[in-house]
Amino acid sequence: MREDRLTAMNQLDAEQFFHLHGYRSTPQRHFILKALEQEQTHLTIEQLLECVREYCPQMTLSTIYRTLDLFLRLGMVRVTHVSGQQPYYERVRGPAHHHLLCRRCHSLSHLDETLLGDLHERLEKESSFHDLTLELLVTGYCETCWDNDHWR
Ligand SMILES: [Zn+2]
Ligand SMILES: [Zn+2]
Repeated sequence: MREDRLTAMNQLDAEQFFHLHGYRSTPQRHFILKALEQEQTHLTIEQLLECVREYCPQMTLSTIYRTLDLFLRLGMVRVTHVSGQQPYYERVRGPAHHHLLCRRCHSLSHLDETLLGDLHERLEKESSFHDLTLELLVTGYCETCWDNDHWR
């Protein structure tokens, strides 16, 4: 019940957001955003296409590319580039953004922001560097991959 209301609210927000920036909320835009919001994770273009086709079978890869391009420009979606991998796309939720990447299965997850403490503020103050953005990519092995390697 609460989730339904939350989804309805997000949809309204997205529509208002498009309108505010002079864009229409087309069904394609709606479906792509919905897929990104429902998966709540990092998706490659192919994975995203697969998800969107569940709601909208006629969706094409070029529409996905064009729509993501717009979402990126509007700051609704974030892309993470990892060398040797396809870019990962996700719906933006909040300003800070740091990742843990598994070297073996290439799964991408979010770092607990509280671990960084006041790093952001201290960097600004002590390095006299302003309006900075911080994007950490921590690489290592996820629990599953570590266990698999360890016992082999
Ligand atoms: Zn792994
Ligand atoms: Zn992320």
